This record gives sequence, C-alpha cells and structure tokens, in this order.
Amino acid sequence: MKIAVFSTKSYDEEFLAKANEAFGHEIKFLEPRLTIETLSLASGYPALCLFVNDVLTADMLERLSEAGTRIIALRCAGFNHIDLAAAQRHNIMVVRVPAYSPQAVAEHTLALILCLNRRITRAHARVRESNFSLAGLLGFDLSTRTVGVVGTGKIGLAVVKILAGFDCKILAYDLYPNKEVVKKGGTYVSFEELMAQSDIISLHCPLNPGTHHIINEESLAQIKTGAMLINTSRGGLIDTPSVIRSLKSGKLGYLGLDVYEEEGDLFFEDLSGAVLQDDVFARLLTFSNVIITAHQAFFTEQALGEIAHTTLQNITELETTGKCGNVVTTELLGAK
Ligand code: NAD
Repeated sequence: MKIAVFSTKSYDEEFLAKANEAFGHEIKFLEPRLTIETLSLASGYPALCLFVNDVLTADMLERLSEAGTRIIALRCAGFNHIDLAAAQRHNIMVVRVPAYSPQAVAEHTLALILCLNRRITRAHARVRESNFSLAGLLGFDLSTRTVGVVGTGKIGLAVVKILAGFDCKILAYDLYPNKEVVKKGGTYVSFEELMAQSDIISLHCPLNPGTHHIINEESLAQIKTGAMLINTSRGGLIDTPSVIRSLKSGKLGYLGLDVYEEEGDLFFEDLSGAVLQDDVFARLLTFSNVIITAHQAFFTEQALGEIAHTTLQNITELETTGKCGNVVTTELLGAK
C-alpha cells in the first residue's frame, strides 16, 4: 500500500525501511509534521503513518477522507491527538501500536527518579568543573519511600515490578485494578489517598477527558511536602502553571518530565539556535530540582523495531482483511 510517513526522523526511516523488507509497502518518508498547512502532502496516499505530535482534527479528517485516505497508522500507543469520532464518521480506520516495550518507558521513569533523587545532572556538571563538593547533593534510600503509581496498565505494571526490586512501598490507583500489581506487593487506594501518602508519584494513565489535568491546584494541595512527581505518560495530565506554583512554594520537591502539554512546538527538533518562545517551559527549566527529557522514554532499539513491525503489520492486515486487532475507536476512550 502507498504510505506517507509524517514527522520522519532518520531513525524512523531506518527502522521502518528495514521492517518493510518483510511487507513491501510503497513508503514515502516526509519530514514535516502533519498540520493543516502540510495536509496537501497526504494527497494520493490511502495510508498515513503518524507520530505523537501529528494532531488530526475533525476538519483535517474530513479533507483527508475526500482526498482518499482510508488508514491512519499511529506509530505510538497514545491516540489522544486524533479526533476518533470524526475518523469514524469519515470511515477512516485508526490503528496504533498498543504495546511495544513497556519496559523502555518504565526504565526511563526509573532513570528520572534516580537522577532527581541523587542529583546526577548537577553532580556531573560540578565534577566537569572540578567541583567535588557534595553540598546540595543529599539523596534518600529509595527503599524507605512510598511510590504511588497512577495507571497500572502495561507500563505502570512494569514500573511496579522494578520498584518492587528496590523494596519500595507501592501504592496504586487505576479504574481497573491489576492482580499482577497486588502480587508484586502493591496496594490499591483512592487517587486522593495515593496523592496524600506517596513520596513519589508516577503517572502512567492515558490522556483522556477523565485524566486531563489530573494534576492540578487541588490534587497538588494534597501531596506530602517535598514529594516527587514523574510524568512519562502525556503532558496534558498536568496543569503546568499549578505545578510551577507548587515548585515555587516548595510543596512539590522534585519534578521529572518526559512529556509536556505544549511539546508539539518543541520536542523532536533541534531548536538550539532559536530563542525559546514558551515562557512556561522556560520557567520549568530554571528549577534545579526539575529534569526534563524530550519524549524519549520509548526510545530504545527494541521499541523502535517493534513499533516499525507492528505499524506495517497493522496496515497489511487492514489492506488484506479489512480488520485489525489494533484498531482504535471512541469506545477505547477511558475504557480498558
Ligand atoms: P495501558 O492501556 O496498558 O494502561 C493504561 C492504564 O491506565 C489502564 O490500566 C487504564 O485502566 C488506566 N486508566 C485509564 N483511565 C484512567 C483514569 N481515569 N484513572 C486511572 N487510571 C486510568 O497503557 P500503557 O501502555 O501502560 O501506556 C500508558 C500511557 O503511557 C499511554 O497512554 C501513553 O500516553 C504513555 N506512553 C508514553 C511513552 C513515552 O515515550 N513517554 C511511550 C508509550 C506510552
């Protein structure tokens, strides 16, 4: 099938081209993000392959449908950036890669926790300047802490398994409790209890209307003073101005982000020669107890290989049978 791949980076091309040796699709790699301005590039392609910041609105889907697009193949798990109701109205099938390497995201989550706790970036910068002082680098033993995991699906469970190895006390919150979490020693509590009792709060639920800004002024008021917040899920889970206020007051002690609500204009690009225009993001960068990575939690060899294979497999299944187990519909919004 003819596929236009948007937001292509060198690694996307490398892994998709290799995986395509087994499928034989006709792939066009395009660097631009899919936006209303770049929509015309999709013309003539029945399948589009999109990434996390290729936002598809109802208006765009209507135009794509008129231009003959039939399949949107997301090379990611989240689908909050696609108007699914509009896709259904226009008979455009949306498929995703529901699981590629939960381990990749879970391990990055732990990397953020450990870096924040042991002030690794600060320590490294100091040593490079021949400053070998330990002042300000004091950490804590992770085994003495309570970690609250919000959303215990594939990634949340992988995080719980790693945390169990660190001997942490684990609290969990999910609409659908997972027996595996309990087997690993986790205890399900209400969201309010988790916020109030956790030293570290890690977000792993999808972004949907029920979770949008789940971290806000009200929920942050409940946390322990000095708690750590980690978000490797989706930026929209957090109301960033509230988090900044909490950091300024010292209530929130540490923040680790791999995602940011307005990341679409920043992440995945080299903007080192440009002036940063996002004042909220710029404020986050001023805190020494904040670490931000640019949506790289998924970025391992294993995950990229799996994403490429499943994406092309999804398209082949739809092309040959009209069906695919990885189709996303509005029923999946907020449901398991
Ligand atoms: P999953 O579907 O396996 O698990 C999500 C869990 O969240 C489910 O158990 C679900 O019941 C729960 N949930 C849904 N609504 C909830 C709510 N209102 N409150 C509490 N829990 C709720 O998904 P996953 O594979 O574990 O991925 C989780 C999220 O991680 C994805 O939605 C995606 O946004 C994000 N993600 C980020 C990266 C990255 O590189 N940073 C990579 C992959 C996925």
